[in-house]
Amino acid sequence: MIPSTMQDFPLDVAAILRHGARVHGGSECVTWTGGGEPHRATFAEVAANAGRLAGALARLGVRPGARVATFCWNNQEHLEAYFAVPAMGAVLHTLNIRLFPEQLAHIVNHADDQVVIVDDTLVPLLARVVDRLPAVEAFVVVGDGDAGPLEANPNGAPVMRYHELLAAEEPDHPWPAVDERSAASLCYTSGTTGDPKGVVYSHRSTFLHAMAVLSASLVGITEADRVLAIVPMFHVNAWGLPYGAFLSGATLHMPGPFLQPEHLTEFIARERSTLSSAVPTIWSAILAYGETRELDLSSLRGGTSGGAAAPRVLLERFEERYGLRIIQGWGMTETSPLGGMAFPPPGVEPGTPEDVDWRMKSGRVAPGVEMRIVDADGAELPWDGTAVGEIEVRGPWITGSYHRDPAPEKFHDGWLRTGDIGTIDGRGYFQITDRVKDVIKSGGEWISSVELENHLMAHPAVAEAAVIGVPDPRWDERPLACVVLREDGEATAEELAAFLRDKVARWQVPEYWTFLDEVPKTTVGKFYKGPLRKMHADGAFKVERTG
Ligand code: AMP
Repeated sequence: MIPSTMQDFPLDVAAILRHGARVHGGSECVTWTGGGEPHRATFAEVAANAGRLAGALARLGVRPGARVATFCWNNQEHLEAYFAVPAMGAVLHTLNIRLFPEQLAHIVNHADDQVVIVDDTLVPLLARVVDRLPAVEAFVVVGDGDAGPLEANPNGAPVMRYHELLAAEEPDHPWPAVDERSAASLCYTSGTTGDPKGVVYSHRSTFLHAMAVLSASLVGITEADRVLAIVPMFHVNAWGLPYGAFLSGATLHMPGPFLQPEHLTEFIARERSTLSSAVPTIWSAILAYGETRELDLSSLRGGTSGGAAAPRVLLERFEERYGLRIIQGWGMTETSPLGGMAFPPPGVEPGTPEDVDWRMKSGRVAPGVEMRIVDADGAELPWDGTAVGEIEVRGPWITGSYHRDPAPEKFHDGWLRTGDIGTIDGRGYFQITDRVKDVIKSGGEWISSVELENHLMAHPAVAEAAVIGVPDPRWDERPLACVVLREDGEATAEELAAFLRDKVARWQVPEYWTFLDEVPKTTVGKFYKGPLRKMHADGAFKVERTG
């Protein structure tokens, strides 16, 4: 063995910040203000404010390792916190603004957040739990809006103004040396089943993941891009886009609270966004909005969809109408999140059905991540594209435990058990067919709820479809299709069952149907099947039976 001659240079968030500020100082963070002129700041200005924020937080007593939470939309100040907090050696905790009050209070206390940075427009939401946050020592409010409801906190924690604090500080903060393996940020899982669990990203994992975002195998953003980050900054670090932008020089487009299709599409048209990332429900909303008016999406060279399976019609219609190729990706809070993107292999002609077939994969294993599928006994299954098992992953940006909760049941010989079921083929393309908890077990066979949903949403009368397993005396479970029809759409359960018959095996076609006004969504806009199961168990909706 000879020692390597390479420098032992720490991979940390301060290095990402320095690079963006120095090499791409003129790139911009553009925050949408709901009309009129958006707010613009260069990366150099963002970096200077990050320095000021770090100075202010240090003055408030934030020491290395302390947790600083954000309760914010996607905007410039949130970006400044993304850099200031980890770079000063503290830990950024991005709070999901849509959590129920109980869960919000739980995670602030579980993380032991010392300071909370909050957008003024979100003060009323945070105020609902302000009497339950004993460890919070200060609230920092972004904007000039009313902060009164926070003043009532029982600890007497001071409520300060972000811009006033920054005005008193110097831009050149001396960033300390940090251990690259120490905590940089913290994000809780959405907790749709049980309490949310905390995933703690290290500086090293953050840096490596940001490099992966730049890779053409994943998102491939460059300085020429203007990236509209629709995915919230509290949803797994906005999928790595903020740090990826500082490493690449891509301009960041931040929608703030304006997540409605009319705002997003106006932002794209006016600022000429080249890329955008969102969950399928947001993409679907944009598509639906575009059905009644002309949209200018011509600046987009691509889009990414993740967080849930994208229906095939979504990929097809965006391509037909706008020439926009949406690429699907897969990931989890536990995986930073990028675990794979579904770029078709070389030789596949864009715009062909074969191209869409490839883009309907959940992803191709990301460089840097290792994946396998295992059966119920934990034995590895072949990469043949047909064997179905639970997906397990490991790698430098995959979590190995949870914050103050080792959760051994979530790991298997050092691999993370994803709770996702699917197949993987010989080239590493994987297809998620279900969550372990959503798969429908019928007569000893599995029915993929995702596949049924996907076919149903291709029916012209269907806006949304979620399929759940319901108890059945003979088969154990049978699929119940919960369908939302388009406003102008008409279809009976019999017609929809007939529509499915040449698409899936006959025994997989649901015989139970219900028609709803909407499918419940999680805090990040995914179909939420828990409430549907409960509604069914409570007899809260009418179920029709087809033959
Ligand atoms: P979260 O931690 O809230 O981001 O949720 C992670 C889960 O979202 C994964 O375990 C999957 O079940 C689901 N998911 C993410 N991306 C996809 C995808 N492309 N297709 C299907 N499911 C996905």
